Amino acid sequence: MHCPFCGANDTKVIDSRLVADGHQVRRRRQCLACNERYTTFETAELVMPRVIKTNGNREPFNEDKLRGGIQRALEKRPVSTDDIERSINTIKSRLRATGEREVPSEMIGNLVMEALKELDKVAYIRFASVYRSFEDIREFGEEIAKLEK
Ligand SMILES: [Zn+2]
Repeated sequence: MHCPFCGANDTKVIDSRLVADGHQVRRRRQCLACNERYTTFETAELVMPRVIKTNGNREPFNEDKLRGGIQRALEKRPVSTDDIERSINTIKSRLRATGEREVPSEMIGNLVMEALKELDKVAYIRFASVYRSFEDIREFGEEIAKLEK
């Protein structure tokens, strides 16, 4: 990062230690240009990105909505609550891992499709048929054929 005193971008870390029970890294830095010292704190960003809807509106990430969509697709299917929760956590960490502040809603839809493909093929087809609104029966048949490979 740039030196807050002179703006140079060559700084070196002269000390680095874990603080706040290991949830934070404190770094003592020195500017190679002006020799001023300063401290930075680094923490993991655990905030979920906001969702960009297809109409361009932004809304906060809604875990209940995600869970609701997955549960609807899995209605009366032999999939345990534990497996559903594990999928939701996987989807959330993949969204966080993008490092983006905002992600398109299609990205979430695609992650849900991937998760359902692993969990239950019938639920996957159910969700995909609604989400992708298959153009015609041929496209639907192709999706099923892909599963059978
Ligand atoms: Zn400096």
